[in-house]
Amino acid sequence: MRALTWHGEKDVRVSEVPRPEIVEPTDAIVEITATAICGSDLHLYNDRMPGMREGDVLGHEPMGEVIEVGDEVESLEVGDRVVVPFTISCGSCWFCEEDLYSLCDNSNPNAEMARKMMGQSPAGLFGYSHLLGGYAGGQAEYLRVPYADVGPIKIESDVSDEEVLFLSDVFPTGYMAAENADIEPEDTVAVWGCGPVGQFAIQSAQMMGANQVIAIDRVPERLEMAGEHGDAETINYEHADVYDRLMSMTGGRGPDRCIDAVGTEAHGTGLDGVSDRVKEGAKLQDDRPYVLREAIKCCRKGGTLSVPGVYLGRANVPFGPLMNKALTVKTGQTHMQRYLDPLLGKIEEDEIDPSFIISHQVGLEDGPEMYQTFNDKEDDCIKVVMTP
Ligand code: NAD
Ligand code: ZN
Repeated sequence: MRALTWHGEKDVRVSEVPRPEIVEPTDAIVEITATAICGSDLHLYNDRMPGMREGDVLGHEPMGEVIEVGDEVESLEVGDRVVVPFTISCGSCWFCEEDLYSLCDNSNPNAEMARKMMGQSPAGLFGYSHLLGGYAGGQAEYLRVPYADVGPIKIESDVSDEEVLFLSDVFPTGYMAAENADIEPEDTVAVWGCGPVGQFAIQSAQMMGANQVIAIDRVPERLEMAGEHGDAETINYEHADVYDRLMSMTGGRGPDRCIDAVGTEAHGTGLDGVSDRVKEGAKLQDDRPYVLREAIKCCRKGGTLSVPGVYLGRANVPFGPLMNKALTVKTGQTHMQRYLDPLLGKIEEDEIDPSFIISHQVGLEDGPEMYQTFNDKEDDCIKVVMTP
């Protein structure tokens, strides 16, 4: 079959790879009808994530049709239309039973590798390095889905692929980011990053009744989308000092809730930005936590910092201000299975149509070029959907 494969920094190729087969009786095989590129994939594209190997199949935002099921799969049948969430969860360990699906204890066969780095291993993820399981991803014609009774959600109404595809990751991720921010009706919520995750965090903050949402980025079409679709006020950080603007927009108190939807590859300005690059170059840190630092500085005392943005290793984060300002921090890979049913409900009831973020629809063969376009934020690219 054809698949997008990883070959090092900025080197994604269309390759012929073996078609996946049922390995465990709890597996299903899905023929992919639509699959997206995520901001998280860019961390792989830029070779920042440890544990990638030449030829790994990329992708973790797929949907399609079930074409084969293992003997023990009960909830799916051949012919079912499903969206597959990016986290792989067994459904029966202590963490899954606590609804902490992205922390599943059983789905990472390389848990020992992750344990060495983090103390304990989070869940395995599709197409996201050997550190997180070494599972082949969904930017391919077919995908093997482990624990098929626990992950995929069946789509039984006639909503289009484009409307439901983002249940695989970025819609629940933006939603959990807003939920983690503990938004109350009078709150001002500031969202750093107006990529797909930021857009859904903004929309979700509005759904949760935020009084005011402020979106921060520098890419004009992304800021425009945050204003038009998300009803947010915007700050272009290249044209204004973010701290000064946020203070003046909140009467000097700072936003109550701050969401970092940027993560490890933040673009930094001024001396602080340069210092991140230098420390990264000298291998003194693994991330560029520019936004995390800015959010800690801007957040109102006693406020909440929600971090859906992905971080990979060691980073220079000022814990003193965080402690002294009594901030609450919530983060994590999204506990996908918690959100699939309720968010599908919102789509089917026309409360939201997530397809507004799609800027490019192409075939799998255009994947390598699209990785570059999306990475460089060229051609007004916000979200790429591929049809294998
Ligand atoms: P994206 O690359 O499309 O968007 C990131 C945005 O951040 C860009 O628009 C960029 O211009 C902006 N940005 C960069 N530096 C900034 C700064 N200093 N201030 C404000 N904005 C800045 O990515 P995405 O798909 O929206 O994903 C965003 C983050 O969320 C990534 O780190 C991704 O890995 C992560 N993510 C996490 C989960 C999860 O489960 N926690 C799931 C999906 C994605
Ligand atoms: Zn993703």
